[in-house]
Amino acid sequence: ASRENQGIVSSAPSILQQVFGYERFRGQQADIVEHVIAGGDALVLMPTGGGKSLCYQVPAIARERAGLGATIVVSPLIALMHDQVGALHEAGVPAAFLNSSLSFEEAQDVERRLMRGEITLLYAAPERVTTPRFLSQLDTLRQQGRLALFAIDEAHCVSQWGHDFRPEYRALTVLHERYPGVPRIALTATADATTRADIVERLQLQEARQFVSSFDRPNIRYRLVEKKDPSAQLLRFIEQEHEGDAGIVYCQSRKRVEETAQTLCERGVDALPYHAGLDADVRQRNQDRFLRDDGVVMVATIAFGMGIDKPDVRFVAHLDMPKNIEGYYQETGRAGRDGLPAQAWMLYGLQDVVNQRRMIDESPAGEEFKQVMRGKLDALLALAEATDCRRVRLLAYFGEASQPCGNCDNCLSPPQVWDGTDAARKLLSTVYRVQQASGISFGAGHVMDILRGKRTEKVEQFGHDKLSTFGLGAQFSEPQLRSVLRQLVATGSVAVDAESFNTLRLTEGSRAVLKGERQVLLRESLSQPAGRKRRERS
Ligand code: ADP
Ligand code: ZN
Repeated sequence: ASRENQGIVSSAPSILQQVFGYERFRGQQADIVEHVIAGGDALVLMPTGGGKSLCYQVPAIARERAGLGATIVVSPLIALMHDQVGALHEAGVPAAFLNSSLSFEEAQDVERRLMRGEITLLYAAPERVTTPRFLSQLDTLRQQGRLALFAIDEAHCVSQWGHDFRPEYRALTVLHERYPGVPRIALTATADATTRADIVERLQLQEARQFVSSFDRPNIRYRLVEKKDPSAQLLRFIEQEHEGDAGIVYCQSRKRVEETAQTLCERGVDALPYHAGLDADVRQRNQDRFLRDDGVVMVATIAFGMGIDKPDVRFVAHLDMPKNIEGYYQETGRAGRDGLPAQAWMLYGLQDVVNQRRMIDESPAGEEFKQVMRGKLDALLALAEATDCRRVRLLAYFGEASQPCGNCDNCLSPPQVWDGTDAARKLLSTVYRVQQASGISFGAGHVMDILRGKRTEKVEQFGHDKLSTFGLGAQFSEPQLRSVLRQLVATGSVAVDAESFNTLRLTEGSRAVLKGERQVLLRESLSQPAGRKRRERS
């Protein structure tokens, strides 16, 4: 960094203290802030509650003080913008927002103030930022050297693989193309490897430094429970473990939200419904009560939660299985932001999986997209079916290695398991043999047909009934083999090629299973093959 830059960079700690009233930066904040103040691009992955806002707010103030002008913050949610701008005003920072809640005159006024240099941070909806009118104003600022920084919040919205795709985010590529010299910081709390790569590509952040914080939320206890009688299970969970606590209960449908809220109320729980079908003022009222009063349980669809910052949410319950691990992690991340013990409790059942699959199948998306979605759904199902530490699995999904946590259901009370190693080895050797025999890869359905000795048209067409593994796994049901496969995929022991019709491919990790060095354990509740003995996990 030049000497001039060093001067600006060194202002960060005093801005943190004087403007925000915090003693010191947390985690990677200091590094991120320094990098961005000095004009570098950054991609920040930090869990919810990790402190992403300061990562661009401090640089925005520092760069404005250095005469570099205004920061434009792209944000998808009006409520979030209001909160942030309100908080900045309280801290004495000139900030404003531009979104559809403003009248034309109000918006014009904001724009005038921006052009006069009276705004340090301008929050704007993506569709606002990319209008020709606004871009021409940015051009002017840029020509005058008064465009300090772009911050792109909730950056996963740019990716169709993410759980909250917003097409308007796609147009943000223009920022890099039109203002190559203006630094950009993109931030998100959820992005697995696929989504992350997509963000980098879509926003052209190839040169950006990536700051990946640990996604672990050690105070959250993860519990994934088989669905039997959801209402009764939920009631028991709340009455026995969370009486009087604030919590969020997520349901798949509006109808289910209404019914569940009512059931809870009848049992004396202070529950409120929230979904997109309710009037805006009812939604607002319920949300306000949830934020303001103690011990309110919000029963909601996923329409609720983004940008809600309530520190003492003691539990997040999922009555239905979410779409994927990213969504699940984002939603459960709303529990326990204050660092005190909290629970993430989810019910899962086969019907959920069937419903989710059907939604994918029936969606108008392209086949490749559907394959990716199926893969993501399977990863979540594999998590639900896992017999080992949930946290290890979750963090591994986001690319982070860890040790068993001692604070999840599987760690605290190891489940009954059956040994699926034999089935796993037979599956993998079938994958190997079809590849050898035919020179191409096949999908799970075909591999399972061979193993179970089904003479389908395809099996006969390829002569796969001649393979030595044909019929070797007749004792296994298809659901069992599928669940074995999900565990193999989740642990990297076999790969699914989403770009090629979800065909199966052996990996480095396959070897350990084939050689009998790695066990594949499954929850016993999944009906086990006939004649198998029960076995406790050692
Ligand atoms: P995120 O956007 O990552 O979910 P926020 O930026 O909203 O997180 O920050 C979460 C909370 O942590 C906020 O209340 C914020 O004021 C607080 N916070 C962030 N950074 C610090 C810090 N360095 N010291 C103390 N509190 C902080
Ligand atoms: Zn654990």
